[in-house]
Amino acid sequence: MHLYKSQPLKVYNSLKGKKEIFESISEGYVGMYVCGPTVYSNVHLGNCRTFMSFDMIFRYLKHLGYKVRYVRNITDAGHLENDADEGEDKIAKKARLERIEPMEVVQRYTVDFHTILQKFNFLPPSIEPTATGHIIEQIEIIKDIIEKGFAYEINGSVYFDVPKFNESHNYGKLSGRKLEDMISNTRELASQDEKKSPQDFALWKKAETQHIMRWPSPWGDGFPGWHLECTAMSTKYLGETFDIHGGGMDLKFPHHECEIAQAEASNGVSPVKYWMHANMLTMNGKKMAKSTGNNILPEEIFTGNNDILSKAFTPTVVRFFMMQAHYTSILDLSNDALLASEKGYSKLMDAIGAIDAINTSDSSSIDVVSWRQKCYDAMNDDFNSPTLIAHLFEAVKHINTLKEHKATITESDKNLLKATLNAFIFDVLGLENKNVSSADNDKLPDVVSLLIQLRKEARDNKDFATSDKIRDQLAALGIQLKDGKDGTTFSVS
Ligand SMILES: [Zn+2]
Repeated sequence: MHLYKSQPLKVYNSLKGKKEIFESISEGYVGMYVCGPTVYSNVHLGNCRTFMSFDMIFRYLKHLGYKVRYVRNITDAGHLENDADEGEDKIAKKARLERIEPMEVVQRYTVDFHTILQKFNFLPPSIEPTATGHIIEQIEIIKDIIEKGFAYEINGSVYFDVPKFNESHNYGKLSGRKLEDMISNTRELASQDEKKSPQDFALWKKAETQHIMRWPSPWGDGFPGWHLECTAMSTKYLGETFDIHGGGMDLKFPHHECEIAQAEASNGVSPVKYWMHANMLTMNGKKMAKSTGNNILPEEIFTGNNDILSKAFTPTVVRFFMMQAHYTSILDLSNDALLASEKGYSKLMDAIGAIDAINTSDSSSIDVVSWRQKCYDAMNDDFNSPTLIAHLFEAVKHINTLKEHKATITESDKNLLKATLNAFIFDVLGLENKNVSSADNDKLPDVVSLLIQLRKEARDNKDFATSDKIRDQLAALGIQLKDGKDGTTFSVS
């Protein structure tokens, strides 16, 4: 039997403003869409946190036995500098500044994004579609929305008619806004603005002559509005109504609100059953922003190359740090918080490493079955990873008392304890068992000296096959041995 049948999951649905029992539309299958990055710069740590939250959610759904189709897009066109359909395309601007092709920008930062996510041990999504790969689908949706009377064309651009849509639908239901309030709070339309209402948003923008990213359409050469790609790709790969749509809190309005409007106008049905939003990462108590310099790139943490850090931290420690907060809470990054996470992570790994050596008895003084259920209860409560981690540390305590022979455990309980820890730590939280402390690296010279000694003994015994093997295999690891008058020395490349 699949675990999801015995482990009822609750998720916080942003659309309803409350936790709901999760029931997938099609039994055993989950369709999940998450808004991916706009690839015009290196992925920053705040974005990594959002994607990591959904990686953990993806992992837990899979763990429960669901077959998950996880779609996370790459925005490689159409994302303008501000939300009011104004400004330059972010990718085109970068291309202009660096005098390279827009697709070179896209390639560079897509590779960076994948490299960083791989270091954090993300599972790849099932499909990673691009906006430029779905221009035809986007044009079809625009035609459909125009035909249904919710969009209009003007001077080669097409805009979504928000007031018209709101007459028969509810624009603002996700973000809890009312159109009347939005109207009274916005500036008057500038005279050069061609929209009928400031709330209207672009489905298609006419490309001015200098605009390099352009495609032909029934309305002339142009490019799609940013919100449209997600509607096109989610509908194409997950259907008109799917289970989960995720993204950062900052995307709720206008991006997700517009996605709902487009899908409802085009398909006539609400596109998403559960809307989920991940909260942001702050640094030293302040919002992270490039403009204020309160910003850090993942690589800077992995190398320790940033003034706020006293040392480098491995990706898995950073991942553990992030998993220690609930995905809907604000998380604050600081050197102290990372140091504390590193300590906690090492304790967890030490405990995992100690299980095998524990002696078993005829009876258990520890209730492993109910402890295991507490771990599930935590994750079933809207993926509460911090509570799960508290239970994992309870197991660490048990392992330590078992090591000191102050408690007993049966063989089958020990196996269950180990399997549950492995499942939650590695499969669900996505951590990896890697050395973190520099103390471990300090042992390298001793280990190499030992191998040099063994090689010398092999040579003294004329066992050149073994001595060559030691030298060659160390070389393959980047460690070069050098034989001199005073013995053998080594260098690490
Ligand atoms: Zn999106």
